[in-house]
Amino acid sequence: MGETKVHIHEFQEMMRRIYFHRDCERGIAGTYEWLTEEVRELGEALNANEKADLEGEFADVAAWLASLANITGIDLEKATLRKYDKKCPKCGHMPCECTL
Ligand SMILES: [Zn+2]
Repeated sequence: MGETKVHIHEFQEMMRRIYFHRDCERGIAGTYEWLTEEVRELGEALNANEKADLEGEFADVAAWLASLANITGIDLEKATLRKYDKKCPKCGHMPCECTL
């Protein structure tokens, strides 16, 4: 089975087509709550160290982040590449040379 590759922008657009009507009804605060819940579940999956669960939880976090971006009018691909385009935004290097 061939793998489908999509850019962040296309993933966000796909989430828009699937969920935008629901995300709009729920609103920003409610959608943010779901995102934090999914991040918490990702933490549990990391602790349990179950690969299948881990993939699903990463997918959920990405999906809810895309939903939140859709209803706040943020283009995730533009935003992430603007800030993290081939360099650390703090030190300006790749790899990052910031001191901890
Ligand atoms: Zn850095």
